[in-house]
Amino acid sequence: MGLLDRCKALVVALTLVLASCGTAKIAEVDPKLQPYVDEFSKYFGMKVDWVPTTFKDLKDNWVGVCITGGDSPVVQIDPGYWEEADEGEREALIMHEYGHCVLDRDHDDAMVTISGVKIPKSVMNAYTFSGIIYLKYKDYYMKELFGR
Ligand SMILES: [Zn+2]
Repeated sequence: MGLLDRCKALVVALTLVLASCGTAKIAEVDPKLQPYVDEFSKYFGMKVDWVPTTFKDLKDNWVGVCITGGDSPVVQIDPGYWEEADEGEREALIMHEYGHCVLDRDHDDAMVTISGVKIPKSVMNAYTFSGIIYLKYKDYYMKELFGR
């Protein structure tokens, strides 16, 4: 085996180590939040398991946050809000934060009128809105969020 061949063997070995590290790293997701992350994944079309998603007391009236700039984006959810929120509000909040962290969406506070009813245009609205509205127009909101 010449020197070049040995170098090649080393490069192959290093690549295998990196590949196995890459697939083994699954981010921590609070079990209470996992079903909602799974719902996002369903619409996204692949399992999103690289965003740490946990509860943390947030300042002021923040209900959730997507923090970017580190190795991977991080989602934090305010536990006080979560306890008070209904099913629609909880799901809309995860869709919103993953909209920032995974889809790179910004806020959109526009309104739209659907069948004569004025509703927020997007779950990317900067403010929370009725979970009942979210669930009633969920098909529309998922199309809007994922650009389909
Ligand atoms: Zn936001």
